[in-house]
Amino acid sequence: MASVTISGVEKWFGTLEILHGIDIDIEDQEFVVLVGPSGCGKSTLLRMIAGLESISDGEISIGTRVINDVPARNRDIAMVFQNYALYPHMSVFDNIGFSLKLRKRSKQEISEKINEAAEILDLTPYLERSPRQLSGGQRQRVAMGRALVRDAQVFLFDEPLSNLDAKLRVVMRTEIKALHQRLKTTSVYVTHDQIEAMTMADRIVVMNKGRVEQIGTPMDLYDFPANLFVADFIGSPS
Ligand code: ADP
Ligand code: MG
Repeated sequence: MASVTISGVEKWFGTLEILHGIDIDIEDQEFVVLVGPSGCGKSTLLRMIAGLESISDGEISIGTRVINDVPARNRDIAMVFQNYALYPHMSVFDNIGFSLKLRKRSKQEISEKINEAAEILDLTPYLERSPRQLSGGQRQRVAMGRALVRDAQVFLFDEPLSNLDAKLRVVMRTEIKALHQRLKTTSVYVTHDQIEAMTMADRIVVMNKGRVEQIGTPMDLYDFPANLFVADFIGSPS
């Protein structure tokens, strides 16, 4: 079971408190979207779940396992970033398989995994290309492929679509949701785009200045915003 439990989580950078005791219970196979203005701490929280940032206080668990002290590579987590961070000198094939090579899997196993991911993401014809020769949407799919081959139970997305044009964003939203359902993963998806949040989320977490303002389904938030901040955020066009 890949539920993600965040309890009393704080983040301090030196003497500056960035997250002030965050509590979020994410269910197995749920698609949860974190929204909130720039600088409110969304990426920091995601990076703490991924193990890229230490946890100053509180606990994060996956299933029943507390992961505070588990190194990033041993967490059952894959992360897709905003700037896809592809290796320009490697083919699509090698970009997708890179993390498996680091893990010392056999050549055959690596190749099977890459081909399987490419099939799912419609990248099979492009495996020998370099990232330069791909469109924005295809590059984003390669980034997802890298996450996919890791067989992770938890997927983290940090504004993965913000570099794409509006039309492609709509297509990719649907693709990401389809992937989530197909792989039966638990997903935590960060965006500052309320339309994206409303259309993709099982539940939305509205954050502001390092605190959670409200957690609920898109309908809950729309019908019963807990305060003016949530109402403004959900109600205003992006
Ligand atoms: P968001 O993703 O919601 O835009 P971030 O999590 O990136 O917000 O940042 C939250 C706050 O933490 C910001 O004020 C940012 O300047 C600060 N911050 C992020 N990383 C560091 C760091 N390594 N050192 C000091 N402050 C940081
Ligand atoms: Mg961010």
